Amino acid sequence: MKFTSTRDPKLESGITEALEAGLAPDGGLYVPTALPRFDAGAFQPHISLPECATEVLAPFFDGSALAERLGAICRDALDLPLPIEPLATTDRDDPAWMMELFHGPTAAFKDFAARFLARSLGALRSESSPPRTVLVATSGDTGAAVAAAFHRQPGFRVVILYPDGRVSGRQAHQLGAFGDNVQAFRVEGSFDDCQRLAKQALGNPAMVERHGLTSANSISIGRLLPQISYYALAAARLAASGPLDVVVPTGNLGNALACILARDMGFPIRRVYLATNANRTLPDYFSGADYRGRAGLRTLANAMDVGDPSNFERLAWFYRDTNPRDAGIHAQSIDDNAIKACIRREYEVHGRIVCPHTACALELLSRLRAEGHRQPTLIAATAHPAKFETVIEPIIGRRIPLPPALDDLLKRPSHAEPLAPGLDALQQALAANP
Ligand SMILES: *Cc1c(COP(=O)(O)O)cnc(C)c1O
Repeated sequence: MKFTSTRDPKLESGITEALEAGLAPDGGLYVPTALPRFDAGAFQPHISLPECATEVLAPFFDGSALAERLGAICRDALDLPLPIEPLATTDRDDPAWMMELFHGPTAAFKDFAARFLARSLGALRSESSPPRTVLVATSGDTGAAVAAAFHRQPGFRVVILYPDGRVSGRQAHQLGAFGDNVQAFRVEGSFDDCQRLAKQALGNPAMVERHGLTSANSISIGRLLPQISYYALAAARLAASGPLDVVVPTGNLGNALACILARDMGFPIRRVYLATNANRTLPDYFSGADYRGRAGLRTLANAMDVGDPSNFERLAWFYRDTNPRDAGIHAQSIDDNAIKACIRREYEVHGRIVCPHTACALELLSRLRAEGHRQPTLIAATAHPAKFETVIEPIIGRRIPLPPALDDLLKRPSHAEPLAPGLDALQQALAANP
C-alpha cells in the first residue's frame, strides 16, 4: 500500500517512511492512497483485538519491512483488556454498549495506538540507527500514553509539551513521573500553542535532522491506523444486533476518524456521532458553516480542548470527491453544565462513574434517544474516571479508586521544566537536554 500527503497528491511514500516521519515533508498529513475493504462478516465475534488488528492492518503494511512482524507487534502492543458491556440507558431499552478503552497503563484510549507506534518504530530500528526524539504535544492524555509506550525503549527519547495549568493535577504528575528517557515541558500557553510548536519543529528540516525528531501525535498515521481495529472488533462482536451507530468523544478527531474509516472499510457501522465539549468547531462545520479553526476553550473535558482539530485535514482529504457533511457524520457540542449534569445522573441513576469525555458521549446519546433515536449504539469510553477526580469527586461526593498502574505512577516523584511557547525556546531546550 502506498501513502501520500493530504497536501501533495504527487508525494508517494511507504508505510515505514510515513511512520518514521510523522508529518509529510510538505507539512501535510500522511494518508493511505486507498482503503482496503472487508466483508461485514469477515471476523468471528470472539476474535481477540491483536488478531483482529493483524488482519485489519495487514493491507496497510503489505510489502513493507514491517509486514512480517505485524502480528508480533499487535500481540505485544494491543493485548490490553477491552470490555464491551451492555449499557442500561435511562428510560428506554434500545440497545447500547460501552466500549471501555481505558484499561491500558495510562488509563486512556491513547495507550492502544501509542504502544502500537512505539513497537513499530522499535521494530524499524537497527543497531546503527541514530537516536530518535519523539516530540509530542499533549492536552493531557497523549503525552502520558506516548511516554509509557516509549519509556526505556532503547534508541528513543520522548519530549512532552503540555499546556501549563490546563491539565489535571494527576495528569501533570503523570507526565513528569516517568523520568529516564522521558522529558516533560510545561508550556506557557494553550494546547493549540503546544501543537503549533510541535508542528513547526517537525516541519523544520534542520531541527528534524539535528534531533532525529519524529511525531507521535494523533497526526501520526501510526496512531490513526491501530485505532481502526477496536471499532472493527466491536462491530464484529455486535454484528448480530445490526449496524451500529457509534458515539465518540472527540477533540483532535483521531479516534473518531478511525471509527469512520472502519465503517468505510466495510465494518457494520452506520452513523458516527462526534461528541465535542464546548469547542464547537466540528459541530459548527457539520451544521453547515465553513470550517473555521479557532483557539481552544478550556472545559472540564480537557483532553478535548481543541479548537482546530488536526485530523480534520485528513477527513476532508478522504471525502475530497464528495462532502464530509454527506457522510453519515454528526457532531454535537456538550457544554460544561451538561457534562456535570450527565456525570451526576449516571452516578445517581445507574451507579456508573464516568470521565468528563465519556460523559459528552453519554449526554449526546441521551439527547438522541430523547428525539426518538433507537439504533443500536456503541459509546466509546475514552478515559478512566480516576484521571479526572477533581472534576468528578465533588459531583458524586465520593472517592474514586485508582487503577493500579495509575497508582504506581502517581507515587513516583514528578518533574517538568517550564518552556516559552516559541521555536527558539524549544530549540534551546532540545539542545540543552540531549
Ligand atoms: C485524547 C482524548 C480524547 C479525544 O480524542 P481525539 O482523538 O483527539 O479526538 C477524548 N477523550 C480522552 C479521554 C482523551 O484522552
